[in-house]
Amino acid sequence: MGKPHDASADSFTSFHAADKTTGEPLIRVMALHALAYCERLFYLEEVEELRRADANVYDGRRLHTELEKDEEPYTLELASETLGLKGKLDCLQHRSSGWVVVEHKKGKSQKGAPWPSDRLQVMAYALLLAEHTGQEVKEAVIHYHADNQKVKIPIQPQTAGEEVKAAVARARELKASLERPPVAVPEKLCRTCSLSPVCLPEEERFALAEKPKPQRLFPPDDDRRVVHIVEQGATVGREGEQLVIGRPDGSKKPLPGINILALVLHGNVQVSTQAIHYCAANEIGLHWLSYGGHYIGAFAAGAGKVQRRHRQHQAFADHHLKVRLACRLVAAKVENQLRYVMRTIRSQPGLETEMVIQTGLNQFRDTLKEVNRQETVTADGPDFDATAVIERIRGYEGLSGRAYFEILPFILKTSAEDFLAFSGRNRRPPKDPVNALLSFGYALLYRDCVGALLAVGLEPALGFFHTPRSPAYPLALDLMELFRLLLWDIPLIGSINRRQWQKSDFEITPGQVWLNTEGRRKAIQLYESRKQEKWKHPVLNYSLSYARTIELEARLLEKEWTGQPGLFARLRLR
Ligand code: SF4
Repeated sequence: MGKPHDASADSFTSFHAADKTTGEPLIRVMALHALAYCERLFYLEEVEELRRADANVYDGRRLHTELEKDEEPYTLELASETLGLKGKLDCLQHRSSGWVVVEHKKGKSQKGAPWPSDRLQVMAYALLLAEHTGQEVKEAVIHYHADNQKVKIPIQPQTAGEEVKAAVARARELKASLERPPVAVPEKLCRTCSLSPVCLPEEERFALAEKPKPQRLFPPDDDRRVVHIVEQGATVGREGEQLVIGRPDGSKKPLPGINILALVLHGNVQVSTQAIHYCAANEIGLHWLSYGGHYIGAFAAGAGKVQRRHRQHQAFADHHLKVRLACRLVAAKVENQLRYVMRTIRSQPGLETEMVIQTGLNQFRDTLKEVNRQETVTADGPDFDATAVIERIRGYEGLSGRAYFEILPFILKTSAEDFLAFSGRNRRPPKDPVNALLSFGYALLYRDCVGALLAVGLEPALGFFHTPRSPAYPLALDLMELFRLLLWDIPLIGSINRRQWQKSDFEITPGQVWLNTEGRRKAIQLYESRKQEKWKHPVLNYSLSYARTIELEARLLEKEWTGQPGLFARLRLR
């Protein structure tokens, strides 16, 4: 094992300089590896800049770290305008026959042979190295650690050159395209693909009616957790691969970065630049909420969502699509309200005779009839005013919302004298404890919806149902409508009826009520444990946590214009 004499300094310079001087951007060797595996994978990673570090990726990183302990660590970065390539070689060996490219892989070989994508990768490295050293590279070795196979690959400069050139040309063609390639690889490749939770190939096959029931490749749960920091005066710093929470009393709590999905900073919490950089590099969302629970903003890394945002913009210029999505969204929300109230009535005999409840149920049914009718009219009518239709749907949705909150006092087992008495929805600011709880939970849900949309790469400011009348992102408000009842109202009503709240959880003034630190902790715990509960998606027919369902719905929404439509907002309370 060694280093080419003139390699590191020159190659480092050329690696960066070539990228700046060439007309065509250079293709990463690892991107060619993805291309040979699946063109859609290449597109998602290189064009849409979606990369996911799953367990396999972390295992691969660990393997390289382990190997580096036994070897002199260095990275040889090479670039070539002639080849149109750039890449980082982790390991080389010098033998009597010359330099040998060595590549370590965590998995198994293909029965003693290299996988096509691995073969293309080492051929590309060999060509880069040959150009850089001026010496022919005749051999590469791939060490598959799972079955301990060291597979030798002879390098024929001409054949390797032609194969790599063709791959680079195809990569450039795909990079220039606005169209995401279809799902077109054997299913077994998808099962081990790190991007299957993003690509949703099984759901695509299901929507195409190629499969009666999709196999779940979308993880049912996320091992990573959302960390809320509510302690005022706390700090967030970075130490190696950990984020460290500093408490005002001087104590510290280290949290491994690999376990964190997002940090939510409530009120006066400081975060260091190093911690922000770490979050950016590891796709950890950062969200700020005010002390009172208002959502302030988020930080999300990466600017590579251009294609997805462009397609979203084009999609929402299609008024028929916007109306269809609005109808489906309101139908999901109101049908869930209807089902929930019906379920409650069945468990509380006597409620069904209440006039308010009967009126509310009729309102839900009227709204459902209207949105179903509008969806059909839209499909058939050539001249329709989309703005007026959406305005009409909004009106019905508003009436159903009012009916729902008028029914709520009958479902809550609180008396008029109770500090948790509820007589209607109010906000900005909330005037009673139940409204303070509702607002706080919705702010947490809003954060999750913003996080899911950013993770999917959608522009949250561009919605199809809500209008930008407040500082809140319209698309996040749209997505929230699917989850208000499921994720917050149901567990909150349960907790109120179980008498889990005390007056001491709130700060109560004549004009405003909000949760204090203890109250916020309890609300966060209630909300986060609800998110971890699993349920079965009624259409896709597989189980997953509510937390994952938010992201799934955001991805299914995007599929309405980038893949097979028809699966968004189909979730229903059973
Ligand atoms: S999940 Fe399948 S179709 Fe999607 S990128 Fe991966 S291999 Fe390609």
